[in-house]
Amino acid sequence: MNFNELEVEKLKSELKSKNVSGYVDKFIQNNMQGEEVQLPLLCQLSKCIIDIPVRHQELILFKCLFDLNNWVEYSLKYKKDYNMQTCPGCNKNIIPTDFGVDFKLYHALEAFKLFKMQYGRMNPNKYIEQNELFYQASYSNPVYKMKVKDNKKALDVEKVIIPGTYPIFGIQKRHLIQKSDPTLQEKKINDEIAFTIEKLSQYLNQKLYFLSKERKILIEKLQQLILPKKNELKNLFKNSIKLISLGKKSLKNDFIFALKTIQGLDNRIKSLLIVYYVYYDVWQEYNIVYNQNPIDILEHQLCIKEFGEGKNHQLYIIGGIYITDRFRQSSQFIRIQFPSNPYEKKEAQVEILPSLPIEGYNFMGTVYKGKIYVFYGQIRKVINDVIVNELLNTTYAYRSNKWKKLDIQLENRFDGSFFISQDPIFDKLVIFYGGISHYPNGIHNKSCKQQNRIQIFSCKEENLLGNQQKYFEPEFSKKPEEQYQQKVLCSPLFSCSYYGRNQLILSGENLKNPSYTDSKFVKREVYTLDWQNGRFKLNEIFSLEPLQQILTIVKASGQQGSFQPVDDYEGCVAYGNYYTIFHVQSENQSQQKIQTITQLLKIDLTNTHFRIYQYQDNDQSVQKSKKLLEKFENRENIIL
Ligand SMILES: [Zn+2]
Repeated sequence: MNFNELEVEKLKSELKSKNVSGYVDKFIQNNMQGEEVQLPLLCQLSKCIIDIPVRHQELILFKCLFDLNNWVEYSLKYKKDYNMQTCPGCNKNIIPTDFGVDFKLYHALEAFKLFKMQYGRMNPNKYIEQNELFYQASYSNPVYKMKVKDNKKALDVEKVIIPGTYPIFGIQKRHLIQKSDPTLQEKKINDEIAFTIEKLSQYLNQKLYFLSKERKILIEKLQQLILPKKNELKNLFKNSIKLISLGKKSLKNDFIFALKTIQGLDNRIKSLLIVYYVYYDVWQEYNIVYNQNPIDILEHQLCIKEFGEGKNHQLYIIGGIYITDRFRQSSQFIRIQFPSNPYEKKEAQVEILPSLPIEGYNFMGTVYKGKIYVFYGQIRKVINDVIVNELLNTTYAYRSNKWKKLDIQLENRFDGSFFISQDPIFDKLVIFYGGISHYPNGIHNKSCKQQNRIQIFSCKEENLLGNQQKYFEPEFSKKPEEQYQQKVLCSPLFSCSYYGRNQLILSGENLKNPSYTDSKFVKREVYTLDWQNGRFKLNEIFSLEPLQQILTIVKASGQQGSFQPVDDYEGCVAYGNYYTIFHVQSENQSQQKIQTITQLLKIDLTNTHFRIYQYQDNDQSVQKSKKLLEKFENRENIIL
């Protein structure tokens, strides 16, 4: 049957204008837990290998996939109703506009085709599995592989990464791995360095492009000019490879945590504390129960952790908003104790300690030498039908079973942020910044002025740093198009130690709010805040990386309030990485419920490479960890 050619072309270009790759990633992440998967390559209509892959968003079946040409033919032939179409792959009713091209797979298929020829030429004795394509899902470095054997019947299988599907492998890695037989560690380091170089060159090319446009100089000329510096850098990288041999004695018991509510059988809710012992790669789960009742997990609670050396670890939970009543705040003060030994199996102990003198949420705080500090906080009330947010601008300290008010001059800040920094001179510092996204009467207003003053509390001196003014004014970019950066400090999602006293800040909530008309606000960016000299700067190189999908406070669906992806903003820095646990919410359409998936986020602090790992079963992680630990010598780390 022949269709009107115009109609065919129109449908084709409609399909090509929609990229559904993002939905495929989401599906793999939710259902395959980020493991390596074999990708379906057969068209469900023709049962032949796909040329241009078409599928619909909100996948139900992974193999529900069609070739563009077959799909167009089918679609025009069986078009009955413009609003709904039964998908021949999964038999669900789908809106025709939900179909699009899976460009990521298309790109991978093209690279696969090319690589099969190249590889076949260079390895004529090897047998390539022609129609098997594997995909290792990860937000930041997805890898495609093909299966290779010595001959068709051989049992041993090798998986070869297809270059070009992951930018680094195609461009920079080749000349770095000159050693014919690098060890596994060397390979890993080479990958990391290649990644950094790739980022730098991406950044550099971008800069050169703009510069050449601005000053009307040829790019080639600019490239010539920077060549000596480029070579210098290259050598610097090569010489910086240092291997560290890990010893058992350098392992710490530091942990990161997340809180989770689980709907149990008979609908009784269970509250869980999920703990990850960073150095040991061990996951533990603790029930948080008091008098046989699960402890409520509130929104915007303050969580403070204390590492127990030889003793139990402790987690303090203070204040918060009740999810059942959005105008009820808590003054609760809870201590949870659990083993600091990652291998020890024991229930967590929950204690209710004397309540904070005020009720509220969004408190900030820390613990220092057994003393708990709580700063700020806010309270939400309804007065004459108007919602009013009141700022609690006080500082409390808790020691020897008593709360005491401290006399400290805090700057006003609603919704501000803070982070904890270990300092060689001052010991532990609490750094406050951001805030005020409300008018003083409490009405939320995104356009109102931001609080940009930084205050630093030294726990050792129990005072704010700075002589007369107890605050610092950060310096922002003066370019008009970068004015928006002043809003980033308002509510950054989290920030972590970077180098020295610089801090790596990951984009704020406000940057993500798509309701802004200014497109800048839907970006996710990385900033460094050097609090020592108050300089706040967009980190252009690292801003190439941040992910849209994670670390975003979102409005919880079907209920009021917000969904908090991260409980432990402080996280943990180990092995040159920043670690924290985060949750993602995804809608399971077939079961009509919201799923919360808990994952581990690891950010490489040398190149801000984001990696995501799945939550692991406790027994499994303990076994794996113990096995790995056997290889460690009983000494401190040494540099090889
Ligand atoms: Zn389908």
